[in-house]
Amino acid sequence: MTLELALFGHPVAHSRSPTLHAAFGRATGIALRYRAIDVPDGDLATAVQRFVAAGGRGANVTLPYKFAGLELCDTLTPRALAAGAVNLLSVETDGSLLGDDVDGLGLVRDLTVNHGFNLRGAEVLVCGAGGAARGCLPALQAAGALVRVAHRDAQRRQDFAASCPEVEVLEYAAVSPGAAFVINATSASLRGEVPPLAAAVLRDAVCYDLVYADEPTAFLRAARAAGASSALDGWGMLVEQAAESFAVWTGVRPDTAAHLQR
Ligand code: NAP
Repeated sequence: MTLELALFGHPVAHSRSPTLHAAFGRATGIALRYRAIDVPDGDLATAVQRFVAAGGRGANVTLPYKFAGLELCDTLTPRALAAGAVNLLSVETDGSLLGDDVDGLGLVRDLTVNHGFNLRGAEVLVCGAGGAARGCLPALQAAGALVRVAHRDAQRRQDFAASCPEVEVLEYAAVSPGAAFVINATSASLRGEVPPLAAAVLRDAVCYDLVYADEPTAFLRAARAAGASSALDGWGMLVEQAAESFAVWTGVRPDTAAHLQR
């Protein structure tokens, strides 16, 4: 039987997840179909209901639905609860919907396993307060990083600080240099924009943009111009979170090595 999988978001046309999951299916001998389903009208609930009714068994959720996805779930894994967001849905054998969040695992695995960085005791600045930023936080903390968050909107900063009281949440102008890692978890690069950080914050830091693209993103160009020690995009994170998702749905974690080079 073919395993029906999907990605829900808006936009989703650019996503490489369908190609990755098709390759994982071929490599593991698991028959599957993974479709990108665009949800332009904000009604994630109806789109997911239709998918499940038609035999859908697992899905990823991407922007702007990582918070809305949470509301649809009957149960949440501890990492989804900690993140307050989901990037993965799984239809359980009793028909209930399980919500999980493997974005943070993907990021930490890419930084530590693929790139060989040590996060223990490292100061990490996460830019943004959306679903991806929330998803990355618990995994970065579990890896021993000392995390601060920067966000542009005062109300969102207040909300974020209220839900994660142990994390310092700053406006960009108040961020001082010194973080060893600067993670751009905003969607700014999708529009060629860069979060308003001082160049000194990027200098000598490992700068990582969650957005991936064939050409260096606006954030990675700014990081290089500012003298960052590394400028990395989110391709490796995408590959690793896809492998974690695949493992949740099938019980098999595919080898990612062949997919890390583009
Ligand atoms: P989201 O929930 O829509 O959040 C986007 C965040 O970016 C918000 O905090 C938003 O601030 C902020 N932002 C947008 N433009 C900005 C700018 N010019 N300056 C400063 N902040 C800005 O999206 P998400 O789900 O968190 O995803 C964020 C990005 O990560 C997306 O581009 C997504 O493609 C990427 N991502 C990649 C991976 C991967 O595996 N590589 C995984 C997950 C996500 P406001 O709230 O003020 O609008």
